[in-house]
Amino acid sequence: MARCEVCFRHCELREGQTGFCGGRVCEGGKVIAKNYGRLSSVALDPIEKKPLHRFFPGSSVLSVGSFGCNLRCPFCQNSSISWSVEALSYDDAPLTSPEEIVSRLPEYSKYGCIGMAYTYNEPLIGFEFVRDTAKLVSGQGLKNVVVTNGTASLSVLDEILPFIDAFNIDLKCFDEQTYKHTLGGDLQTVLDFITYAHKSAHIELTTLIVPGLNDTERELRDLVSWIAALDDNIPLHLSRFFPRFNMTDRAATDVSLIYRFADIAREKLRYVYTGNC
Ligand code: SF4
Repeated sequence: MARCEVCFRHCELREGQTGFCGGRVCEGGKVIAKNYGRLSSVALDPIEKKPLHRFFPGSSVLSVGSFGCNLRCPFCQNSSISWSVEALSYDDAPLTSPEEIVSRLPEYSKYGCIGMAYTYNEPLIGFEFVRDTAKLVSGQGLKNVVVTNGTASLSVLDEILPFIDAFNIDLKCFDEQTYKHTLGGDLQTVLDFITYAHKSAHIELTTLIVPGLNDTERELRDLVSWIAALDDNIPLHLSRFFPRFNMTDRAATDVSLIYRFADIAREKLRYVYTGNC
């Protein structure tokens, strides 16, 4: 048996057993990333798509993703590479080394590419690939961006923080029970992650407003107050939900609600953006 310390789940795995996230496995008595270098997607994205609106606006980043996720959000926007049966087929994707993917960066510089983004699935369940690649990118004087659900352990953050310039972190709701029972996450872990990352990197936060899940004014005000107490310069992205994956029992969020929530958030935060509207 070996215990994985990468996220709050702390899976105890027998030899050969895969963790809850689908991306790590117990081999030789150790838990290793089986998704290391198994890329499911590579694309040049505008930085605003991460979303990061106050970090080199107008630039682009070469975005890479693997497979696996340690949460179980029923409205997942990326289920084909996170935790569906389809996602696990990327187990067989050709191996790409950090050196190989970094060697592609110069060809994108003419498109305003400032570096690499680790995104699409939950990148930190395979933090070793992020760390090794980010170190090379950093060595070339370029930038590294991580888009994460913010549930990795702080010891994982310590491994990558020397090389990461910016994060977009999901703060999916502000209710412990919803985090635990609906999303399979842990609110306090996310709050600790945000607080720690904010000490040494640029951070922006994203909240998808889902009808019936996190769309009360009271919850929004609690979430915004917590961010403002940490730093009212932290940008918040409020995004509109669309029925997807295992959550097709409700309509898309009203655009008017997103705009109203954005106005409320602006009472305490300096930078609030709306998404998918
Ligand atoms: S990263 Fe994966 S294997 Fe490790 S504790 Fe989290 S869910 Fe389990």
